[in-house]
Amino acid sequence: MPEIIPETLLQIKDLKVQYATRAGRVKAVDEVDLEVQRGEILGLVGESGCGKSTMGFSILRLIREPGQIVGGQILFNGEDLLQKTEQEMVRIRGKNIAMIFQDPMTCLNPLQRLDDHFIETLQIHEGVSAKEAYQRAANLVDKLGIVADRLTDYPHQLSGGMRQRIMIGLALVLNSDLIIADEPTTSLDVIVEAQILELIKDLKVAFDLTMILITHNMGIVAEVADRIAVMYAGKLVEVADTIALYDKPLHPYTQGLLNSIPNIRLEEQKLEIMPGSPPDLIEPPSGCNFHPRCPRAMDKCSQAEPPMKEIESGHRVACWLYD
Ligand code: SF4
Repeated sequence: MPEIIPETLLQIKDLKVQYATRAGRVKAVDEVDLEVQRGEILGLVGESGCGKSTMGFSILRLIREPGQIVGGQILFNGEDLLQKTEQEMVRIRGKNIAMIFQDPMTCLNPLQRLDDHFIETLQIHEGVSAKEAYQRAANLVDKLGIVADRLTDYPHQLSGGMRQRIMIGLALVLNSDLIIADEPTTSLDVIVEAQILELIKDLKVAFDLTMILITHNMGIVAEVADRIAVMYAGKLVEVADTIALYDKPLHPYTQGLLNSIPNIRLEEQKLEIMPGSPPDLIEPPSGCNFHPRCPRAMDKCSQAEPPMKEIESGHRVACWLYD
């Protein structure tokens, strides 16, 4: 069988995003390099405030003042999104890159019926008739497990899980090349969360989805992601295939994250707590910015920043232990 060569859809190079505050500039994303291959789900994980959502918003150029993208490139299909005009970005958002937000209630217009959301989206981007747009919406929501009759409902008439299904539908309706899902299940209970994760897995196959799944929950990425990128304090610290990352996490921060997840298969398990808290991003620690919390820190760690290195095929880590 011929080898399938992955095609890079998104390539982020040396991305830097900062927020200007009275106390100084917060380095929310700092010198991040990352690629997304067509047809994969990339899980972007880390603690709250590590910069993962800022990465997602940067790709869509939705960073608002006092935030600013101060450097780098975001190559989408080979073209740098940071060089596009705002008008060009308006066309790209939704049509080429769609986003699913944490809380659908804040994104759906409470005064609009659900079908109006789909019709408006399709008419703006594809100029189709209202009748055709409705039909496409009806076919799509059926695949998402919602009967088409519910399209005449208003957002408040649906449960949280159904609203998130509608948000997923709005992200899919234009056949976007890339979907960025920012904590899509955080506001849902565990049963509905499991249903939405199953849905994402099914849709990946049915629609050949390419997705960046942003979450703080290592359990979620284990379920659905093909690859995982771990962020800490604005930096990327480890990237690997999901199985490789869970089998053999290399970075002490990734190891700490995994050690803090309960495992119901173990009869007895002592959950480990990562000491300390994430650093001040205005004046991050010198060298490796994880060194004040790292159980394996060495002298060198506070003196120089470790470069990202490929240790095994596709498994990269930024840590002096692997120098
Ligand atoms: Fe820990 Fe040093 Fe590796 Fe940073 S570089 S994660 S401080 S061992």
